[in-house]
Amino acid sequence: MLNLVLFGPPGAGKGTQSTRLVEKYGLIHLSTGDVFRANIKGETELGVLAKSYMDKGQLVPDEVTIKMLKSEVMKYENPKGFIFDGFPRTNAQADALDHFLEEIDSSISQMISLDVEEEELKTRLANRAKDSGRVDDADPKVIQNRISVYRAETAPVKEHYKKQGKWTKVDGLGSIDDITERLFSAIDKL
Ligand code: AMP
Repeated sequence: MLNLVLFGPPGAGKGTQSTRLVEKYGLIHLSTGDVFRANIKGETELGVLAKSYMDKGQLVPDEVTIKMLKSEVMKYENPKGFIFDGFPRTNAQADALDHFLEEIDSSISQMISLDVEEEELKTRLANRAKDSGRVDDADPKVIQNRISVYRAETAPVKEHYKKQGKWTKVDGLGSIDDITERLFSAIDKL
């Protein structure tokens, strides 16, 4: 299996690029944010809980997120691999993912970080807010909180994969096509 963690701060382009990676490599795109949003729309118990954190730009608790991720992965029979988008976001999630994949005789192939500076992120998120309808994109205070949470809790997750020799950085600035080409070439080298 080819299992990629597509990593980067909010607004780095993980969702946009995932669509292209799915097309080229036939992987399953698993975005924890998308699953939470679907649950909010469906007014499930998980959705109600997730919303109370998401609206403030906070992380949904690890226990809840890990359980949800596992059940999503288990939905697929003989997958070619996954693109994990927005997961893992804490070291506890990264440990849980390693153990879980080991149980199913698999592992993470590589974490690929999309590198984008903070000012550019804020501009992209403000633009996305115009058409995404996402509550957490609309309020600058919530955006700032998501970036702070990213810095404090999520950015350190890189070290987890660096230690395993499974980390690649890709420049996330420039046109969407250019970034896709960089990603393809990084993945083709694996
Ligand atoms: P995203 O779509 O990846 O930007 O995620 C939107 C929001 O969903 C985040 O700000 C968190 O509140 C929540 N969320 C998504 N993925 C995770 C995760 N792995 N752990 C905790 N919360 C998450």
